[in-house]
Amino acid sequence: MDLTFNDAETAFRDELRAWFDSHEPGPEPRHDEDAHWRWRRDWQRQLGAGGWAGVHWPQEYGGRGATLTQSAIFFEELGRAGAPLPADVLGLLLAGPTLMVWGTDAQKERLLPTILSAEETWCQGFSEPDAGSDLAAVKTRAVKDGDEWVVTGQKVWTSGAQYAKWCMLVARTDPDAPKKHQGLTYFVLDMEQEGVQVRPLRQITGESEFNELFLEGARISDDNVVGGVGNGWKVALTTLMNERAGLAFFLQVRLRQQLDKLIDEAAARGLLDDPVVAEKLGDLHVRVEVLRLTAYRGLTAIEKYGQPGPEGSLTKWMWSDTNQQLVQLAADILGADALVADSPWAYELLRARGNSIEGGTTEILKNIVAERVLGLPRMR
Ligand SMILES: Cc1cc2nc3c(=O)[nH]c(=O)nc-3n(C[C@H](O)[C@H](O)[C@H](O)COP(=O)(O)OP(=O)(O)OC[C@H]3O[C@@H](n4cnc5c(N)ncnc54)[C@H](O)[C@@H]3O)c2cc1C
Repeated sequence: MDLTFNDAETAFRDELRAWFDSHEPGPEPRHDEDAHWRWRRDWQRQLGAGGWAGVHWPQEYGGRGATLTQSAIFFEELGRAGAPLPADVLGLLLAGPTLMVWGTDAQKERLLPTILSAEETWCQGFSEPDAGSDLAAVKTRAVKDGDEWVVTGQKVWTSGAQYAKWCMLVARTDPDAPKKHQGLTYFVLDMEQEGVQVRPLRQITGESEFNELFLEGARISDDNVVGGVGNGWKVALTTLMNERAGLAFFLQVRLRQQLDKLIDEAAARGLLDDPVVAEKLGDLHVRVEVLRLTAYRGLTAIEKYGQPGPEGSLTKWMWSDTNQQLVQLAADILGADALVADSPWAYELLRARGNSIEGGTTEILKNIVAERVLGLPRMR
């Protein structure tokens, strides 16, 4: 693993830093989710206008054609600049790259440009009440009616559905298929129609990032089938493979910043000499560094072998675990000060609970590591 940047990578980073020096998202709106969303969408527009929205997208689709390392640099620098992730992370990281692999020319032409410009945003309709981790168990049905499909079912935890124009929807089109992975189809669902109902779910933070999604007679034209009828499992795997691309670099930088903030808090309270606090801070320092190196190791694996190794599962698990430990230590160090409503730590403490569930639960990630890295027998 080579951790030094070549000349092209250094030039890319310098150009990006110069851009961040002259552009910024403005003050973060707090306690108003709609305003927060608009703030992140406006920031994505700025990134798009500067040619930085889809850095990893090929130039033919309006991206910058950045290499994997350049893409990692982008996410590190975004975090370092203290800027938020663009509003439509799901479009940029998941829907766009999936359409590039499986979409028809007409789908790419219609759908890709509006992702970059943040004109239309996306949500991911995978999880269902009885099939979150087990995507192949989805029950939402799509039944053919002329040159359209009629969809009935329920999705849950659908982040950003209240703002989305499009949904990456996995539905069952052949209930008689012999195996549950078969008979699934991947659709692009237009959210702005009768038959689509979005109901916000209130989270422990008080926000409603995600929603329940009720589909009753919603319609999808044949043109919006992605990758062929019955091929939904394979197309969905492409989406899932892209889920963590680049994000690890943003998250590890953010974690480092949070840790530095916590060290300042401990210092201000004269706690740096407390052996228990010092040991815990030291442990977190090592974890954050290991996370950074593992993220780079994952990058090297993709560059060498052309596909992601199990590092993506490791970094997601390590990040969520480390973040939860960090906010817990913040609560221990700050005591009641961490819990007052206006403390940013109170928000972090509550929001971190979801880290080990969202984007793949820790238990599932551990199964992947057990099977693919340690070679332990398959669970089922
Ligand atoms: C903040 C947040 C945002 C989300 N956004 C989206 C989104 O936009 N779109 C979307 O489709 N989904 C989204 N999700 C849903 C998320 O992907 C699911 O919650 C996750 O896949 C787990 O599914 P589940 O909640 O149904 O739990 P279940 O699958 O029912 O699991 C319950 C528990 O059992 C464990 N478990 C299940 N199967 C196994 C197994 N084989 N081995 C060991 N343990 C197992 C799980 O790890 C978990 O602890 C989001 C979740 C969160 C928290």
